[in-house]
Amino acid sequence: MNGFRIGAGERERIYASTTDTYDEAADLDLIAIEYALNGEPVVLTTDERVYAARLLDARGLDAGAIAHRIGTAASTVRGWKANGWKRGGASKVAPPRSEPKCGEQRMYRRHLRRGESCDVCRAANSAADRRYRLTGSTKASA
Ligand SMILES: [Zn+2]
Repeated sequence: MNGFRIGAGERERIYASTTDTYDEAADLDLIAIEYALNGEPVVLTTDERVYAARLLDARGLDAGAIAHRIGTAASTVRGWKANGWKRGGASKVAPPRSEPKCGEQRMYRRHLRRGESCDVCRAANSAADRRYRLTGSTKASA
């Protein structure tokens, strides 16, 4: 039950284009987009999704309703919109973590995995162990 239909009651069909069926320049299948606009199951490319999302947004649908219709996440739709209806934009993906340095717990665990021995990390780890036994936390007190 998705319950939401544009122009509920009047069954108005939305057209991506009234003249073209294919946008050569942008490589968009306007027929496929039209299916998506009207809530019919269809597989779209990302560019077609962005195109459909822009049209639905222009009709006043919110990101959640648009996302449901084109089969993506609301956050993705908001990202496209924030990006001027281009793919990419605001990303949920966290930037890659920095490389661990010696003395950090992550580096100690990496040494262990690789069978390496490192005095700096071993000392840092046993200091953290001592802190943990004394204070219940591995974090150095401020
Ligand atoms: Zn180390």
